[in-house]
Amino acid sequence: MTTKSAAPQARTNENAIPTVELVRRELAVARFAFDSGRTRSLTWRTTQLEGLLRLIDENEGRINTAIEADLGRGSMATFMADIAPVRHEIRHTLKHLERWAAPTTVPLRAAQMPGKAWVTPEPKGVVLVIGAWNFPVLLTLHPLVSALAAGNAAIVKPSELSPATAELLAELLPRYVDPNAVRVLQGDATLSSALVTERFDHVFFTGSTTVGRAILEASAKHLTPVTLELGGKSPVIVAKDADIVVAARRIAWAKAVNGGQACIAPDYVLVEESVRAALVERLLKELPRAAGLDSTRIVNDRHLDRLESLLDGHGGERFGGQINRQSRTITPAVITDPDPSSQLMQEEIFGPILPIITVRDIEEAVAFVNGRPKPLALYLFTESRTTECAVTKATSSGSIGINHLMYQLLVPELPFGGIGESGTGSYHGKNGFDTFSHHKSVLRKPSALDLSFAYPPYGKLTTRVFRRLMG
Ligand code: NAD
Repeated sequence: MTTKSAAPQARTNENAIPTVELVRRELAVARFAFDSGRTRSLTWRTTQLEGLLRLIDENEGRINTAIEADLGRGSMATFMADIAPVRHEIRHTLKHLERWAAPTTVPLRAAQMPGKAWVTPEPKGVVLVIGAWNFPVLLTLHPLVSALAAGNAAIVKPSELSPATAELLAELLPRYVDPNAVRVLQGDATLSSALVTERFDHVFFTGSTTVGRAILEASAKHLTPVTLELGGKSPVIVAKDADIVVAARRIAWAKAVNGGQACIAPDYVLVEESVRAALVERLLKELPRAAGLDSTRIVNDRHLDRLESLLDGHGGERFGGQINRQSRTITPAVITDPDPSSQLMQEEIFGPILPIITVRDIEEAVAFVNGRPKPLALYLFTESRTTECAVTKATSSGSIGINHLMYQLLVPELPFGGIGESGTGSYHGKNGFDTFSHHKSVLRKPSALDLSFAYPPYGKLTTRVFRRLMG
């Protein structure tokens, strides 16, 4: 246990230290920083956010290089997916932080008078952020923005599957934010497992549903609250009244982003019978065009093997899907009408393979979606408000995009998160701030007016008054 008088030593030679010891020491450093009280002030929080903004502004070139080394992704794509959204989130947070962090007075009923009640957000303490590799800056720094805005200390574990970016973040973060309050640890699942067995005040994880389950189980031991940003199969419903040209272009664009390795990428399409042929024809043109503009590789051989195994044995008709092992890429594949029970239709694809399933009508599409785990995102292409309303009401998903895909991520006022197997909790903008805050209730009563009839035994009159006032 750390005392306030003796600061734990910062790390020296990580490699020489057993994982559990390293984790405990780092946690003690972060805990000491939090216990010092400095992270609570608005000045400290603002300084950290400004530091993160400078980190990005002054190192955009190095971030591009690292992400290109990890994923082969080009700088414009990185700007749009990793740099701009984090910058926007920081600026948005800086603009609203004072208001979000201010206490909110709540009204008191007559029975509670006299007095004053308010809710005050306070930092949770030391939080753990486990990032993901597919957008390695976005999915590591974005939650950190909210964690620091809420006044927490944090341990950050970037993904080991994007090692160049992880290394860069480990080098840069201590230079731009409070190095004792924000600790960066690099390592694989062994480190992540060791981290989640320790007592944190919040765990924020981005990754697969399988690992999410393990994180939840481990966190239950300490009753640590968790946010799980997971994945799943996000469907696209294309109604017969949709603008098929626009739908095909947008679906192809979204499927090509990061080589299809995005948690809110369209996983498969459900299309009404009468427009199926037109949609497939347009997609077969648009997908290669969109994929040709994205240079992202499949992250590793394991994922490439997994994707290869999805290309066959599904019972549908396949177009495209040529694998180049040397460049670790796959040309976009369209699979029409695969067997819904095939592996392709059971597991999250996370790559450039797009199954298209024909449905008789929107009701059948809705039934198909509702027969599966609740998705992180659901997309709908329609020009009809009635269809939009019907699908929105009849389905449940983390978010729903109508006539476009993925842009919901960029609106900070929209909570971002899943439901059921696609995740629990949310972040972005004030939602992120709230996720990393405890909303403490405060009630103050005056000591004066300490009337004896307010205490038992209650007389007849008091009983009648209390029964009326307190409901
Ligand atoms: P993953 O779950 O396999 O790995 C994520 C991290 O978990 C790794 O860094 C690893 O160190 C750690 N880990 C592995 N086993 C662990 C264990 N037993 N205990 C603790 N930690 C462990 O995820 P991935 O394959 O790297 O990413 C792809 C998945 O992430 C997809 O399902 C995708 O949809 C999802 N994802 C979700 C979001 C979102 O915002 N909801 C964003 C990106 C990716």
